[in-house]
Amino acid sequence: EAQIHLLVRVARLGSRFVLLLADDRTESHRLEEVRRDFVANISHELKTPIGAVGLLAEALESAADEPAEVRRFAGRLTIEADRLGRLTHEIIELSRLQATDALGHAELVDVGGVIAQAVDRNRVAADACGIRLVVGGEKRAQVYGDEQLLVTAVHNLIANAIQYSPDGSRVGIGVAVNEGVVEIAVTDQGVGIPENERDRVFERFFRVDAARSRSTGGSGLGLSIVKHAVQNHGGDVRVWSQPGSGSTFTIRLPEASHATAAILGVT
Ligand code: ADP
Repeated sequence: EAQIHLLVRVARLGSRFVLLLADDRTESHRLEEVRRDFVANISHELKTPIGAVGLLAEALESAADEPAEVRRFAGRLTIEADRLGRLTHEIIELSRLQATDALGHAELVDVGGVIAQAVDRNRVAADACGIRLVVGGEKRAQVYGDEQLLVTAVHNLIANAIQYSPDGSRVGIGVAVNEGVVEIAVTDQGVGIPENERDRVFERFFRVDAARSRSTGGSGLGLSIVKHAVQNHGGDVRVWSQPGSGSTFTIRLPEASHATAAILGVT
């Protein structure tokens, strides 16, 4: 009887082992699929600007004796090369952020400073379409983190707010501290995001209106970078939106304290 018992136990363990193996297989299969999708998406996204650069270079060559044409093609070449540069930079940034869920280095960061830098970097784009950037709220908040990564995150939200809003509108950037959570909210009066697309905007390469977004130079990576940057800080990002009247993206981060220092491994 003892032997039968033992056999049954071995069989049970065996089947659990097989299940575990199968589960592991499913997980690695899924990861492999995600990786393949990512590479396919990247190749697809790179194809357009690379193709354009090639064609424009050819056009430039054949227009050699027509200065006005040369200038026109050269201008467009610069735009496409810029786009290509931005896209590759964002792809590298995102892969770096996805490779680990920890921060490379963390220090005490003033949220007010992060916002000031992010606003500064968007000033030219905002002025070009008469959009007012209005900063308000509790600017003395502090968090632990990678300052430049946080600047990139807030910058991306402001850049989107400008890109998807009408000329002459207003973009508000506010900070609030609630029970140990620092909230940075970027509010626009733009086109908004349909409810069924709201969760998907944080996915890599996702665009609500692909044609419009691509023509304005968007890569579809900006919000994925925000999501991963914020998650690596132990925070999250959410969106609220009213199609036709605007959107609010809110980054939430743990306020700097001894506890968050310990979790983030800041010494
Ligand atoms: P993109 O480079 O296309 O802007 P993002 O990842 O930054 O890529 O954003 C993904 C999509 O989410 C955008 O293509 C756009 O459709 C939508 N989106 C992002 N921010 C806003 C906003 N403030 N208002 C309306 N739509 C937005």
